[in-house]
Amino acid sequence: MKLTIHRGANEIGGSCVEVTAGNTRILLDFGMPLGNGLGGEFDESAIEGKSINELIEKKILYPIKGLYKDTPPQIDAILISHSHKDHYGFLKYAHPYIPVYMSAGAQKLINILNIFVRKEGRLQLPRAVETVCDRKSFDVGDLRITPYLVDHSAFDAMSFHVVYKMSGKSIFYTGDFRAAGWKEKLFDRFVADPPKGVDSLIMEGTMMGREAGKYPTEQDVLDRMVDILRETDNKVTFACCSGQNIDRIVTFYKAARRTKSLLVIDPYTACVLNAIKSPRSHIPQMDWDSVRIFIANYYGKGDVYVSKISDSAFKGLLPDIGRAKIKPLDFSGLEKKALVLMRGSMLPAIEKIPGIKESKMVYSQWQGYLKKDNADARRFKDFVSKYDMCLEHVHTSGHATVDKLKEFAAALNPERIIPIHTEHAELFKEFFWPVKILKDGEVFDLMAGGSH
Ligand SMILES: [Zn+2]
Ligand SMILES: [Zn+2]
Repeated sequence: MKLTIHRGANEIGGSCVEVTAGNTRILLDFGMPLGNGLGGEFDESAIEGKSINELIEKKILYPIKGLYKDTPPQIDAILISHSHKDHYGFLKYAHPYIPVYMSAGAQKLINILNIFVRKEGRLQLPRAVETVCDRKSFDVGDLRITPYLVDHSAFDAMSFHVVYKMSGKSIFYTGDFRAAGWKEKLFDRFVADPPKGVDSLIMEGTMMGREAGKYPTEQDVLDRMVDILRETDNKVTFACCSGQNIDRIVTFYKAARRTKSLLVIDPYTACVLNAIKSPRSHIPQMDWDSVRIFIANYYGKGDVYVSKISDSAFKGLLPDIGRAKIKPLDFSGLEKKALVLMRGSMLPAIEKIPGIKESKMVYSQWQGYLKKDNADARRFKDFVSKYDMCLEHVHTSGHATVDKLKEFAAALNPERIIPIHTEHAELFKEFFWPVKILKDGEVFDLMAGGSH
């Protein structure tokens, strides 16, 4: 059994691991990098129109035989851990006949994004995507794979346990995970009853070398949001967050409920929440009492999100969206306070809400995004200062702290730990033993790897 980290051995984002055993070859994730390797951001538009060979030459793609569209397929499966682009973003280069496995939630979120992004950024999933479920094992050739549902900022995220049936050797790939969200119990359940006999644990280490921050858990974010909404005299409070971070949207909904405020979301977020609606879940929906949908005129062309929805399979939602709508001028007549969830693309619309001067702007994503020197970060900061807004960072990470990683690794007790999704692979050695640091592209043979 052999494994190769094609990307991610010493960077966050773009994870791709190849596993070979017997006659079977699979990939674990096929992500788009976040960085360009020079300290800047990965430029997605720069790869548009480039051939696979060009991209391999530029070391953006990897020389994996039988993976790409231009050769007969020789990879038996691609397993995607979750719906973050740094884990699935390169799928469009894979041969469409290679079976892709992912959770139902991941499929829904990837599909819905297609409605709202530019044509070039869309990803047509193969029609035969296999749906994986928590702890339901399946076989791919000589491998037996068991997915484990994990707590992460992406909805319905999975780890994968990959066993070579002939030898019993196995690899555990964590994907991205944490133990601080509304699904924290998944972590406790896992460490109480982990899979046995894992040889190599490929473990994410995003938080290595990063501060845990002021709010360790989603509950802490909720408590702070309740205080913010209680303390403010302003009608409107803004929170900037991803429309796909479901845990966070649940947090904001709870904060709004607890303070008898309205939660205002945009039509895109409303569609995302609708797509993953289930009778038993607590995911807020557009027809719930205290939820409103913000509809505005963008650049004189009407609501950009509504027009995309009307051209999509989600157009049946438009009557519901209409019933829940709130327009910028409607905010003046509100009796309740409103918590408005927004993203950078919505700045020209929220500007039309009367009286936003000196209101509170909660930044609820990784602070690193704001510190970047790019147009989005500048536009956001200019907006905040133009309206004398009070900016506060209230966020908890989607990734496990070092303490939780230690608890996780101790429970699995593998033969070795291989760092991935980290900028500080070397730091693993301070906390874990034994650690095998691989380089991108280096083939590691589990048999020859020795044991401790
Ligand atoms: Zn990631
Ligand atoms: Zn992720």
